[in-house]
Amino acid sequence: MTVKIVVQKFGGTSVNTRELREKAALKVQETQKEGFSPVVVVSAMGRKGAPYATDTLISLAREEFSNLDPRDLDLLLSCGEIISAVVMSQTLRRMGMKSVAFSGAQAGIITDNHFGDASILRVEPDRIKKYLDKGYVVVVAGFQGATEEGEVTTLGRGGSDTTAVVLGIYLQADYVDIFTDVNGVFTADPRIVPEAQILQGLTYTEAAEMIQQGAKVIHPKAMNLAREYRIPLRVRSLSDEGKGTLICDISTLTKEGLRILSQEEPVYSIAYRRGLAQVRVNLGDSENGELKIFQSLAQEGISIDLVSLFPEGTAFVVDETVGSKVEEILRREGFEVNLTLPCAKVSLVGSDMADRPGVVAQLVEALKDANIEILQTGDSHITISCLVKSQDMERAIQVLHHKFRLEKAC
Ligand code: ADP
Ligand code: MG
Repeated sequence: MTVKIVVQKFGGTSVNTRELREKAALKVQETQKEGFSPVVVVSAMGRKGAPYATDTLISLAREEFSNLDPRDLDLLLSCGEIISAVVMSQTLRRMGMKSVAFSGAQAGIITDNHFGDASILRVEPDRIKKYLDKGYVVVVAGFQGATEEGEVTTLGRGGSDTTAVVLGIYLQADYVDIFTDVNGVFTADPRIVPEAQILQGLTYTEAAEMIQQGAKVIHPKAMNLAREYRIPLRVRSLSDEGKGTLICDISTLTKEGLRILSQEEPVYSIAYRRGLAQVRVNLGDSENGELKIFQSLAQEGISIDLVSLFPEGTAFVVDETVGSKVEEILRREGFEVNLTLPCAKVSLVGSDMADRPGVVAQLVEALKDANIEILQTGDSHITISCLVKSQDMERAIQVLHHKFRLEKAC
């Protein structure tokens, strides 16, 4: 029997209380009534402080055991999602549906053995399919899998999104639903810009660019897989005002009436990334200095962003957590180094910036009027990013949102 499948992922804040789980179960039931077989993926219940949240399990491990073996840590961390899967499955049963809960391993998710940040190698979906064929809703614990040898692994932060998309790929799902605590993907993080507008339809490329620039509503790995395998995503919330955001290819968006030709604005959203440090290095008269800098950082496995090179020096951005390490490495090599932290990168994401004169001018004007110092800028075909001090980040996002009239978008 061929069944039409929808994978529905519920984030930690969507399964945190009995009331929310019942709302989630209603969404699953609706999907079933529409003629689909739902596969549910759940994250651990709640955020930091909640009894079974991932952060709580991490604190438990760290407080008592300073050097917990990564294998055991993964075994411990995988429990949060397993608890959630069982509770969700029981909720579905209480509401009259047939349901079965699986750990990642039981669901056939095979990963490499990189504990704490494992990658999914493949899925053996037969067991899931067997239950779907018998009319069960299969609830899978997100964020985890097991190695070929059966060792339990976890997929790193945001891993449940990846579980959902990978199951979508292997089960040839029609959609993957990402239920979270906002109604969809917005022109900017609605927690920072209350008047942000929902973006009803995004192409894979547009969504991937926003997410690459820091919009954390979907995990980048999951987004990239969805784009590569052309699995449509729907970002929604349990309150479901409106239809959420549909992420798919342009022809489907046009068919759904979510896109008309020549609608393109130069900027359609603003993304941000916190927790950065700016490193400025004076090259002095050092021969091949810039090469030495980048080679020594590469050797240490440190990734860099927003790189600017000038004859007299270079400036770039690293993760705040490695800021002082970078400073130390480069001082050791004899360079004069200046570190600014904490910083944040604010990015305008749009289309064909290169062909739109004036976008940079508007950005500079808006930030200048608001007395916000721009530490550095960088751009690509469809983004312009600027680095600001963390304390200025929220205001920078707000004034840029206003400057580009995104509150009137859509
Ligand atoms: P979950 O626990 O459901 O996976 P996340 O916290 O990972 O949820 O992702 C949802 C959050 O993403 C929202 O609460 C919101 O603050 C943030 N976010 C950042 N940028 C955006 C954006 N452009 N649109 C919507 N949400 C965004
Ligand atoms: Mg998430």
